[in-house]
Amino acid sequence: MESHESTLIEKFLFRIAKQWIAGDTMDEALQSAKAANKNGMNAVINKLGEHMTSKDQISDTVSEYLTLVSNLRRSKVSGGISIKPTQVGMSKTIEDCMTNLEKIIEKATSSQSFVWIDMESSEYTDNTIKIYLNLFEKYERLGMAIQANLKRTEQDLEMLLEHGAKIRLVKGAYRESKKNAYKTRHEVDENYEKLTKMLFSCGNEFAIATHDSKMIDLAINLSKKSERKFEFQMLKGIRDELKPVLIKSGFSISEYIPYGTNWLPYSIRRLKERKRNILLLGSSFLHSHRV
Ligand SMILES: Cc1cc2nc3c(=O)[nH]c(=O)nc-3n(C[C@H](O)[C@H](O)[C@H](O)COP(=O)(O)OP(=O)(O)OC[C@H]3O[C@@H](n4cnc5c(N)ncnc54)[C@H](O)[C@@H]3O)c2cc1C
Repeated sequence: MESHESTLIEKFLFRIAKQWIAGDTMDEALQSAKAANKNGMNAVINKLGEHMTSKDQISDTVSEYLTLVSNLRRSKVSGGISIKPTQVGMSKTIEDCMTNLEKIIEKATSSQSFVWIDMESSEYTDNTIKIYLNLFEKYERLGMAIQANLKRTEQDLEMLLEHGAKIRLVKGAYRESKKNAYKTRHEVDENYEKLTKMLFSCGNEFAIATHDSKMIDLAINLSKKSERKFEFQMLKGIRDELKPVLIKSGFSISEYIPYGTNWLPYSIRRLKERKRNILLLGSSFLHSHRV
């Protein structure tokens, strides 16, 4: 593809993507987080970026998160941060990743911020769980995402709940093989429902992270039968009409707010999740070409 064509496509993609992203800078993320707080939600901020292998890039990312947690406290933002293991060394060694995560979590703990560890593709699941359990022994304000599309997750959740782990349940955003993962929407939803029930029967301080009304209604129904400390989590810019309704009904919500210039992989995952977004992209492209 000619470079001016790819620049053009990137510009159109960005026009769609900016609904999900606070902006390029930490300041914009903090503004977005304050807006979420004002609307009754906690904020979970993520610096965009993944699969980092350069030492400098990784150390810059760690410094950025350290500054971010200080700024969260200084700006009196209620919420925390969410980190992808491959941003902080997982693509190099598990030890690098653990050391870097611990630096950030230590600072976050002293700043009273909660830290979530995002779950990436299944090649990292074992090491992410290992790191989580190791750090969770020392830091209790630490949670981890698990993915309903993976066949292994039911067993993982059983084991994690025995450790009292703080879980964010998601459907899973990464392309996985048939061997490891449920592939149809029906199968993934069925497993999400099963895992939600497990959380409501044995979990505490967990997050139901979905935009799916069916899954949200199930959690609401389960919460009436078994009282648990839990929250809904949704991404910035998605289901904005539903968020105030849930808050008004007394539920806690956190909004996941990404920022930074590396917005493309995150945005492509969001686009793939919704055919309507692809259509929107198409119409935006056509519109700007005045066809
Ligand atoms: C807070 C949070 C953190 C996450 N962290 C991770 C992580 O660490 N690892 C990971 O693999 N994945 C993560 N994800 C992404 C997740 O795995 C899914 O890919 C994503 O949430 C889409 O799945 P869904 O549950 O919303 O349901 P889907 O099956 O994608 O959608 C169900 C329904 O929700 C509604 N909906 C969905 N998207 C939109 C939209 N854009 N606009 C309007 N309505 C919409 C529609 O009604 C749709 O039919 C996270 C998601 C959230 C909300």
